[in-house]
Amino acid sequence: MMSGTELARDIVGRAAQRAGEYEKRAGRKPCLATVIVGDDPASVTYVRMKRNRCHKAGIDSRLVELPAETTTEELVAAITALSEDEAVHGILLQHPVPGHIDERAAFEAIAPHKDVDGVTMHSFAAMSFGEPGFASCTPGGIMRLLDAYDVDPSGKHAVVIGRSPILGKPVAMLLLARNATVTICHSRTENLPEIVRTADIVVAAVGKPEFVRGDWIKPGATVIDAGYNPGNVGDVAYDEAAGRAGLITPVPGGVGPTTIAVLLEQTVDAAHRRLDA
Ligand code: NAP
Repeated sequence: MMSGTELARDIVGRAAQRAGEYEKRAGRKPCLATVIVGDDPASVTYVRMKRNRCHKAGIDSRLVELPAETTTEELVAAITALSEDEAVHGILLQHPVPGHIDERAAFEAIAPHKDVDGVTMHSFAAMSFGEPGFASCTPGGIMRLLDAYDVDPSGKHAVVIGRSPILGKPVAMLLLARNATVTICHSRTENLPEIVRTADIVVAAVGKPEFVRGDWIKPGATVIDAGYNPGNVGDVAYDEAAGRAGLITPVPGGVGPTTIAVLLEQTVDAAHRRLDA
């Protein structure tokens, strides 16, 4: 089993140390601003969790709560203000936002040097071209898990199920950058189980509970379950898949904790880079 909890502890420990170093140099803590629109219970819980983790790691967190009826223009204005605020080092827009909002326009209002969640087109392009920038946090955390467990993607067939802009697509680019042969599957993919059966590395990012079945898994494969469905259930049928996989991430305690850890690490990085700029 690949423990995201343990890896996250290491990453957050180092981030906390570097947050302390930043505070000594700058006389204030690194600061992450979180924007939440509406009161979706799952989003409220995630935001509270992230703010607690920030606090424990010596990172200030600022919360901007906007009503569900906020317009795209109002949200863009709020995020632009944070982009221009020197006291803020990282900006996180909790998604999903209500359906009437142009989410892409809102993301693009985040200044690239504050995009610690790695959601802007600039960050995606930088990551895809191997240029400096911030990785999308969940994909970044997945790569850290592979590294922590000595899974070298080079030359391996990696099958990513899902192509969302925050998960499937960026993790596919990061795997490609590490010389994996990458197949990206989605809702129109034909013969999905057959394709997954040829994978040395499977990344499930579908958003459907226990969607990937045990008999889809090639014996010895590495299985990364990025899914997080109600009731703490992943996108992989864990008990079935664990019998065949060489390594597998649990839900909870796998990809989730590493995602938050990378967010904190990138916030501290953003603060240091600002000071060094
Ligand atoms: P999303 O935006 O809903 O994307 C889901 C993807 O799965 C889409 O690309 C979709 O294909 C594909 N898909 C849907 N049905 C499929 C099917 N029958 N066969 C093959 N592909 C199918 O979801 P997301 O935001 O990427 O999130 C995916 C999962 O990861 C969710 O469970 C979410 O909760 C979890 N997540 C976890 C973290 C974390 O920190 N642990 C962070 C983010 C997300 P189309 O593009 O063709 O529609």
